[in-house]
Amino acid sequence: MSYLKFKADHLFDGYRLWDDKHVLITDENGIIENIAPIDDAGDGIQSYHGILSPGLINCHCHLELSHLRNVIPPHTGLIEFLCSVVTKREASPNPSDGEAYEDPAITKMNSIVAAEKEMYDNGIVAVGDIGNTADTADVKSKSNIRWQNFVEVLSFTDEKADENIEHYKKVAQVFENQNLQIGGRAGKNQSRNRTSLVPHAPYSISPKTFRKINEITKGQVISIHNQENPAEDELYKTGGGGYLKLFKIFGMNTSPFPVTGKSSIRSYLPYFNNKQTIFLVHNTYMPEEDVIWASEYARAYGLRLVYCVCVNANLYIENKVPPIEMLLKNNCTIVLGTDSYSSNWQLSIAKEMEAIQKNFPKLFPETILQWATLNGASALHWDNEFGSFEKGKKPGVILLSSDFSDSKRLV
Ligand SMILES: [Zn+2]
Repeated sequence: MSYLKFKADHLFDGYRLWDDKHVLITDENGIIENIAPIDDAGDGIQSYHGILSPGLINCHCHLELSHLRNVIPPHTGLIEFLCSVVTKREASPNPSDGEAYEDPAITKMNSIVAAEKEMYDNGIVAVGDIGNTADTADVKSKSNIRWQNFVEVLSFTDEKADENIEHYKKVAQVFENQNLQIGGRAGKNQSRNRTSLVPHAPYSISPKTFRKINEITKGQVISIHNQENPAEDELYKTGGGGYLKLFKIFGMNTSPFPVTGKSSIRSYLPYFNNKQTIFLVHNTYMPEEDVIWASEYARAYGLRLVYCVCVNANLYIENKVPPIEMLLKNNCTIVLGTDSYSSNWQLSIAKEMEAIQKNFPKLFPETILQWATLNGASALHWDNEFGSFEKGKKPGVILLSSDFSDSKRLV
């Protein structure tokens, strides 16, 4: 057995930073042996500038929207942005003069392939990935990234809830069938990718649909876009506000949701009580009183809440950052996501870390590193393999520049 040995200016093991006098040792397949003092590590050490880290975890992406890169301009605000995604996601790109016409389905597939490769090369080892369709199933079946597929339900009315859930179960089945095939090729029963049905957002899921999703996701990891715009609370408190514009596109002149007089999260979280891990994504406009309330609710009903922040996407859409210091103060579990190419300049967790460090300069680099690695792995229930340099794990080995502006995969 031959060993791989790595050292750099700093070594982050998933918990803390070590200095350049320690060497990470893995076997030839990247399985962690140990971290040894340099004097005991022998020869053949690869030496780098920057930070060695376990592979990065992207807890929120929409790989299927990769063809929307540079399509929607920045800083439109969320509601204009959503209207653009809904109306432009199936649009055929216009070839500019002199350019050959390309089939939109091929353009879409090429952009999915390129985005998967980008994430692999920049050191992302696992992704929580949203999809309304199974367009990404083929690429994922050949990918060396681990995928938690969040099949995202859109279901505005109770009348359509059964029909919609059946439709999205069929989408989920495509991913499950792919997983069985990968598992077959690997000589196992099943690949280690996973699939769950998840609610899109509080402004797109009817009460009956929430109840059905709760029933069928017992103990699973699920996700929901949460409090990304103040209009979300207004919708539940008064039945009015900016989301009515989005509903018009779907042919509805009034809000299809009950007016509860409460904030959005206080209106929908009580539908859940089935031991799920729930990723609350964005939280850009979540007030502290709701965080305190949600923690109490989760404790009482056996839920695990994870706060996924997508800072570059928030800057792209609303030019605003989420209340990270408040979440930290309230002991929330924080993880990182890139969101999709419809609202980001790249799919890089390092760039998310860089944006967080720039906007919150008081945060310790170790804290941000932990969100990007061990916290993400643990939230996805994959910390037995990913997230830290502990003996027997195969978390990937990546090199980050010291200012988090760049990352690349070493193993
Ligand atoms: Zn999203």
